[in-house]
Amino acid sequence: MAWLVQPRLVNEPFSDPALLLDFAFARRALLFDLGDLAALSAREIIRTTHAFVSHMHMDHFAGFDRLLRLNLYQSRTVHLLGPPGLCEAVAAKLAAYTWNLLGPHSADFRLLAEEWSPAGAGRRSLFPAQDAFRRQELAPRAAGGRVLLEEADFMVETARLDHGIPCLAFAFQETLRVNVHRPALEVAGLPVGPWLTAAKQALRRGDPAGTEILLGPQGSVPLGFLREKGILHTGPGQRITYATDLACSPANVEALTELARGSDMLFIEAAFLEEDRAMAARKNHLTAAQAGGIARAAGVAHARPMHFSARYLGQEEALRREFEAAFRGAR
Ligand SMILES: [Zn+2]
Ligand SMILES: [Zn+2]
Repeated sequence: MAWLVQPRLVNEPFSDPALLLDFAFARRALLFDLGDLAALSAREIIRTTHAFVSHMHMDHFAGFDRLLRLNLYQSRTVHLLGPPGLCEAVAAKLAAYTWNLLGPHSADFRLLAEEWSPAGAGRRSLFPAQDAFRRQELAPRAAGGRVLLEEADFMVETARLDHGIPCLAFAFQETLRVNVHRPALEVAGLPVGPWLTAAKQALRRGDPAGTEILLGPQGSVPLGFLREKGILHTGPGQRITYATDLACSPANVEALTELARGSDMLFIEAAFLEEDRAMAARKNHLTAAQAGGIARAAGVAHARPMHFSARYLGQEEALRREFEAAFRGAR
């Protein structure tokens, strides 16, 4: 199946979390959280255009340094999106280093931090390497909506959860799933090639049937033809939800269930065992059973527990069993 992105947890579940959403047909990636990024290759980090930060506890934000280090000599913009306080946190991170070697001759690397809250009108700050990362305040984000990022092929939605502090959960929503039927392609005598990506994008954008898709030297083919001949099939787009660091309050469960509803994949924290439910509540975290129950209530197709507390090193199976039992409805 030709999904637009391939999601991958960067680490095993006891390490600081990060989820890489790697685009299958483009040199591009998104990151949900900036935990431990050491296991990502330089290429994966450099193709990351947007990093979504759930909150600025160290285990979710310490990977910022590696993102910064590897991008320093690239002429590109990396977008950081997160809860209120993100712009200040980025400024503080940048202030920790000495930038006297940066100037107008440097690569045009920019960090653009944007804050989101339900009230809207979040703060936006730009930090250009060519100006030694001096902070520029931009006009605030337009108010309204839960959409953090919207492009032709996908959007990223958010929900604000309570973790003692505001903490954002994220959902990646592919606009429309488009698959190529290879036998039909061969029957029509058309070659495999990058033009198929352009054709898929045109379908997702809702371009008219008469739109000509350039094949290359072989000429072009109308978009409508590709549908009529069964070469391109469409279906509901992929939804991938990521939620971590939340108390098991009714408001959190409701907000997350709504965000995760019908997801193909839910990545969700399962920090504690049910026998330590009181400790989980004190720390504003979920137990594995609570996480499995949310995954079940949201009707997700697949769910992966993550962000296990280090106190259960050696007991990973117990956490997984508890999660699966609640997810499958065995309790
Ligand atoms: Zn936290
Ligand atoms: Zn955490």
